[in-house]
Amino acid sequence: MINLKEKLSRTRRNIKHRIDELLASRKNQEEILDDLMETLILADIGISTTEKIIEHIRENSRKTDSPEGIRSLLQKEIVAILSQQPVEVGLEQPQSVAVFVGVNGGGKTTSLAKLARHYQSNGKQVMMVAADTFRAAAQEQLSIWGKRLNIPVIRGQYGADPASVTYDALQSFKAKQFDLLLIDTAGRIHTNANLMSELEKIQKIISREFAQAPQEVFLVLDASIGQNALIQAREFLKFSGLTGIFLSKLDGTARGGCALSIVDELRLPIKFIGIGEGGSDILPFSPGEFADALLS
Ligand code: GDP
Repeated sequence: MINLKEKLSRTRRNIKHRIDELLASRKNQEEILDDLMETLILADIGISTTEKIIEHIRENSRKTDSPEGIRSLLQKEIVAILSQQPVEVGLEQPQSVAVFVGVNGGGKTTSLAKLARHYQSNGKQVMMVAADTFRAAAQEQLSIWGKRLNIPVIRGQYGADPASVTYDALQSFKAKQFDLLLIDTAGRIHTNANLMSELEKIQKIISREFAQAPQEVFLVLDASIGQNALIQAREFLKFSGLTGIFLSKLDGTARGGCALSIVDELRLPIKFIGIGEGGSDILPFSPGEFADALLS
C-alpha cells in the first residue's frame, strides 16, 4: 500500500507546515490571506492559479471564519482546481492504445513501463512499443523493462521511421488480440521533420487501424522542475491529441504544487502520478487524495 503523504513529504512540508504556522500566528484574516498567497506561490502553485484560489477563499470566508475554516476552504479549492477536467482513464476496453509523449529525461519510458505493470496486474495483456527510434538507449531501456515485467516489446531499427514501427506493432497487437498497446515516442528527433507532425503521423496510423484509438495520449511532465514543467509542456500543446498528463517524479521534490497550475493553465487532467523509480511507484490520480496528502 503506497503512503502518498510519505511520498509527497517534501511538497507536503513545503505547503502544510508553512500553513500550520501561518494559521497559528494570530494574524487577522486579511494578513493571513496575503501570507497564504505568498506561501502558495513559493510552493510552485503559480501566480494565476494562486490568485484564483485566494479570490475564492476571500469570497467564501466571512470575517469571523477561524483559521481552520480557511484551511478547509483551501483544501476544497485545491480539489476543485484539480477536478476541473475529468481524471477517468479510458483504457478499460479491449484493444485500447495509449501513446506517451514528452521531452527526454522527463520520465516517459519509466512511466510507460509503470503503466504497463499497473494494467498487467489488473489482468490485462499488455504490449509495449519503442517508437523512439532516435535514441538507442530509450529502446534498450524499454526492452529491459519488458524482460523484467515479462511484457513483449516491439522495437524498430535505430533511425527507422517511428510511424512504420508503430504500424508493425499495431499488426502484431491485432493478431495477438492483446488488450493494451503502450507506445513510447521520441522527445526530440534528429531530422528536420517536426516532432509534432511526427506525432500526428503516429496518431493517424493508430486511428486508421482502430477507429476509437488512441484512447489516451499522455504528456509526461517532470514535477521536480516545478513551474518549468509548464514551459516544457507548451511545445506539446501544439499537438492536438493530448488527453491527459502523467506527472512523474513527485517523490523527493518540494515542487509538487505545480500540479495545480498544470491542470489549471494547460486545461488537461492529471491522470496518473509517478512517485518513485520502481515499477510499482504509480497511482491513478485522485484530486481528493492529493489535496489530503498536501494539507491534512
Ligand atoms: P525519458 O527520457 O522521458 O524516457 O525518461 P526516463 O524514463 O528515462 O526517466 C529519466 C529518469 O527519471 C530515470 O532515471 C528514471 O528512473 C527517473 N524517474 C522516472 N520517473 C520517476 C519518478 O516518478 N520518481 C523518481 N524519483 N524518478 C523517476
